[in-house]
Amino acid sequence: MDMSIAAPRIMDIGGGAVARIAALLDRLGLAKPLIVTDPMMVRLGLIERLTKPLDEAGIGYRVFSDTVPEPIDTVIDAGVAVARAQPFDCIIGFGGGSPIDTAKAINILLHAEPGAKMRAFKVPVAADHAALPLIAVPTTAGTGSEATRFTVITDPEHDEKMLIAGFGALPLAAIVDYQLTLSVPPRTTADTGIDAFTHALEAFVSRRANSVSDAYARAAMRLIGANLRSVFHEPDNHPAREAMMLGATLAGLAFSNASVALVHGMSRPIGAHFHVPHGLSNAMLLPAVTRYSLNAALPRYAEASRLAGFARDEDANQVAGAELIAALEAINRDLAVPTPEQFGIDRALWDARRKAMAEQALASGSPANNPAVPDANAI
Ligand code: NAD
Repeated sequence: MDMSIAAPRIMDIGGGAVARIAALLDRLGLAKPLIVTDPMMVRLGLIERLTKPLDEAGIGYRVFSDTVPEPIDTVIDAGVAVARAQPFDCIIGFGGGSPIDTAKAINILLHAEPGAKMRAFKVPVAADHAALPLIAVPTTAGTGSEATRFTVITDPEHDEKMLIAGFGALPLAAIVDYQLTLSVPPRTTADTGIDAFTHALEAFVSRRANSVSDAYARAAMRLIGANLRSVFHEPDNHPAREAMMLGATLAGLAFSNASVALVHGMSRPIGAHFHVPHGLSNAMLLPAVTRYSLNAALPRYAEASRLAGFARDEDANQVAGAELIAALEAINRDLAVPTPEQFGIDRALWDARRKAMAEQALASGSPANNPAVPDANAI
């Protein structure tokens, strides 16, 4: 089977690894970073884990923290203006998937003609080039963005999440330090953890799975299946936080080299129209989409169920598949995942937007990677 596999050149992984940022920059020959982060990282003081070692090494930097969760195009345009104002030689994305994706999109737009606007990028977008080396430092165990060739930017005027894919979005390096996730609140811990499991499962059942993405996905599902509940119920459980962080990065490597599928295809429009955080909309969809897709790839779903510890090794595929769905539903109950109604989504508005959301899901291309390929009606 032909494969084209991409991953960051260096991933420095481990508790406290962020303290090695200056050494990493030195190895990469970089010295003038623009740091892209979110205001919460500044308010919590978490940013100092990154800036203190830079200060100690005498490395000058600028912090751009005017980012928003589920990034929007105008924030990218503002970030590009900051990036153009000084001669930076690299960008560091520090935070959850939102600031890391913001950093990626700034870097891609920075490579385009001066004056280009993010909104001019049309879906689906291919972007193989960016201006500067990018280093990603995640503070959530979820998106895997530190290891993927994707960035997702919302166009709020058209209620659309733009999936931008290509090597331009792939970080040159990543620092994966689970200690940065210890302060993540329970709701975000749950949502991001289910997001990571969704990445691994969708990569594993994807029509574009290959033996390398499978290896990452299998390892990710083992780690996340065994630790997802623990990080929610015991936020200070270091081994569980560490396992989830590694699992999320491995899941990122898996889907970046295979693809995501129907859950993500449907999740993006829900996020764009109803402002549901990405991991949460995935969690809402995962049991139902798995039920819809199960028989189209039963051996794969059954193996996933065994790897995650939801079924026993000796269970037949049909039993293991049923146990997977039951476990996903139970996880949503245990981790207090709200239904769309409980989240506050208006049913009438949902019905009015249903057709447009289904069309956006199909246009993203992700549903075509699903084992069972739906039409707009099924979506
Ligand atoms: P996020 O980055 O939006 O963060 C969610 C909230 O958690 C924010 O309020 C943030 O300030 C807070 N937070 C983050 N780290 C924290 C910490 N250590 N302590 C306390 N609070 C913390 O959430 P996310 O789920 O990591 O990222 C979601 C975004 O990632 C979405 O825009 C989604 O589309 C995108 N995404 C990208 C990829 C990719 O491959 N590029 C994959 C999946 C999702």
